[in-house]
Amino acid sequence: MPKPLTDQEKRKQISVRGLAGVENVSDLKTNFNRHLHFTLVKDRNVATKRDYYFALANTVRDHLVGRWIRTQQHYYEKDPKRVYYLSLEFYMGRTLQNTMVNLALENACDEATYQLGLDMEELQDVEEDAGLGNGGLGRLAACFLDSMASLGLAAYGYGIRYEFGIFNQKIVNGWQVEEADDWLRYGNPWEKARPEYMRPVHFYGRVEHTPEGVKWVDTQVVLALPYDTPVPGYRNNVVNTMRLWSAKAPCDFNLKDFNVGGYIQAVLDRNLAENISRVLYPNDNFFEGKELRLKQEYFVVAATLQDIVRRFKSSKFGSTEVVRVDLSTLPDKVAIQLNDTHPAMAIPELMRILLDTEHQTWEKAWDIVTRTCAYTNHTVLPEALERWPIDLFQNLLPRHLEIIFEINRRHLERIAKLYPGDHDRLRRMSLVEEGDQKKINMAHLCIVGSHAVNGVARIHSDIIKATLYKNRCFILVQGLLRGGPPQVPEQDQWHHTPTLAGHVQSWTATLYEILASMCFHMFFSIFSQAAPGYITAKLIIRLITAIGDIVNHDEVVGDRLKVIFLENYKVTLAEKIIPASDLSEQISTAGTEASGTGNMKFMLNGALTIGTMDGANVEMAEEAGEENLFIFGMRVDDVDAMDKSGYDAMEYYNRIPELKQAMDQIAGGYFSPDQHDLFKDIVNMLLHHDRFKVFADYEAYIKCQDKVSALYKNPKEWTKMVIHNIAGCGKFSSDRTISQYAREIWGMEPSLERIPKWFRNLKSLL
Ligand SMILES: *Cc1c(COP(=O)(O)O)cnc(C)c1O
Repeated sequence: MPKPLTDQEKRKQISVRGLAGVENVSDLKTNFNRHLHFTLVKDRNVATKRDYYFALANTVRDHLVGRWIRTQQHYYEKDPKRVYYLSLEFYMGRTLQNTMVNLALENACDEATYQLGLDMEELQDVEEDAGLGNGGLGRLAACFLDSMASLGLAAYGYGIRYEFGIFNQKIVNGWQVEEADDWLRYGNPWEKARPEYMRPVHFYGRVEHTPEGVKWVDTQVVLALPYDTPVPGYRNNVVNTMRLWSAKAPCDFNLKDFNVGGYIQAVLDRNLAENISRVLYPNDNFFEGKELRLKQEYFVVAATLQDIVRRFKSSKFGSTEVVRVDLSTLPDKVAIQLNDTHPAMAIPELMRILLDTEHQTWEKAWDIVTRTCAYTNHTVLPEALERWPIDLFQNLLPRHLEIIFEINRRHLERIAKLYPGDHDRLRRMSLVEEGDQKKINMAHLCIVGSHAVNGVARIHSDIIKATLYKNRCFILVQGLLRGGPPQVPEQDQWHHTPTLAGHVQSWTATLYEILASMCFHMFFSIFSQAAPGYITAKLIIRLITAIGDIVNHDEVVGDRLKVIFLENYKVTLAEKIIPASDLSEQISTAGTEASGTGNMKFMLNGALTIGTMDGANVEMAEEAGEENLFIFGMRVDDVDAMDKSGYDAMEYYNRIPELKQAMDQIAGGYFSPDQHDLFKDIVNMLLHHDRFKVFADYEAYIKCQDKVSALYKNPKEWTKMVIHNIAGCGKFSSDRTISQYAREIWGMEPSLERIPKWFRNLKSLL
């Protein structure tokens, strides 16, 4: 007769079943109630929906803890190569559902909450988005963390714990109004503060060159307080770490020359130091050269590199604990990936550590730095490139400026040897841009300081090679985005539901004529956030809402067309809109959109694409077959040719009657009856200084939309095209992308092991 199991043994069994994905509903209920009682200190008479959300989040979080600790123990013991993804943005969105899915807990939690008389979806809706990003670059970082954990890579995301993420957008009288995103107000159940690992970050001061070496002295210190968030892999028991730094004033901040009366002011001034991690700069593809932003960039880099060096030095080596005394093998054990130039200061900061603290020679230090760092470029738009004024640098980071000058001196010396007498090349390739105000070109710094440079789509990488930096050859090509291999069902299993057609026509009066002949309903939904300082973008949003006001009340149009501006576009809204859309518009002028990521999300989720041959659209057409996308307009070569021959918007305006009519209506106040010249500036821009040559693609676009409309009337053919798209989107999985980064940039081997060996004898997961 087997002995009856003890409580502890029962628990073990449950845990093992948990591994297989069958969770114990009654355990979840018990733990939910325990958290409601002990963590939230509420009973069911007074608990709010938010309390229930927090109880559920904590219950799910408990399932991460054992796996998280175990994963980190394993990394410490086995000392695999680590990859550090440095990014000023991690656009994570919500965490609860993703965690339940990755831990195979979703059904059990749904059942448990149901048995408790609660609606899990309603509870999920309480969670705030972690909106620590502007758009594609930040969302990419979030997808990459997920993929790195899912592929079993010893990876860390490092960034800033902004107290305020991307602003909340309200539409008031048709205008965008921003509100602060106070996402931490009710607490964040997913993070764990680690005050014991606080690190000092220095600013300002001056440099002393002494016989013993270089010293950076008289600095102001701000502390970096780490907050760790678990990053679970997809059902493989790996839990990696995203570490975000928060700025904290030291206790003696501004108290050095303490005097009566100075004390209160000194305590109040602590805010100045802590402002570093206060707010995300809401600029997408735009460089705003503010000192606070440079502080943020150096803050994350300085704190992170201290962590990297400490972890490198104290890791075990085989079975024995080894304290590595120098950093000469750093590139074998550490890869640092720079998400755009925002964390570019990692290059001079690692040089500073190697030179001034580790006392390495310049040559040795430079070899270590360049073999450790790699850089991803995200745009070629000149207004987005980071070019920091030297004066600002000199004041805030004097030692780093010295190091950058020396990097540049050696760099130019090498170029001069390779291309004797080519002064124009030296000027083009210098890290220092001359002019009224000397500036440091951060993209050039990244390119010389890295062993690998990549763009975010093939066409983008080709453009970088041809323009941004002609002489670097190692450029990798890759697509983006997450999503497993597609499952393609039989065609008749698909039902075509045009619920929320992202179906678009141009804003013309002829629209009404087209509509009159239409047999289907269209919802023309638009979502976008304008940077608060971007006046034209805000005016364009106002124009969209104004067109909505007219069109949505038009009697001829009736219910057949609605123009809806969806406010506050964020990850959570994207997760709803994208799967509901039929048509995705990816209509950037060829050569201007590095990749785009929404294009691939729509493709994966069953929308068709009308798009130009730009960014990832090019590879989407290649994968799905060009006949399965609606491709129109100029190619990059056509745009380049037009740059030479000249673009004349007036020619199109005068030649195409409906284009002229639309512009005249917009400029003349048809959509702004109370303020006739409200939109004049937009039309003026389109007619006289449109860098994007929008009118040059106009006719091709309208023709292509006619093809879209014709096909939409044939659901069977439309659906066939959708299936080809979904079947062809595998390349755009971020798992595929990260596997390629791992092999080609980081020298690491991705693994799809579901239950890693080191995990199999885990005693308890709860
Ligand atoms: C994907 C995504 C973006 C970026 O979309 P693009 O098409 O690459 O510009 C921006 N915001 C959110 C919320 C997203 O999910």
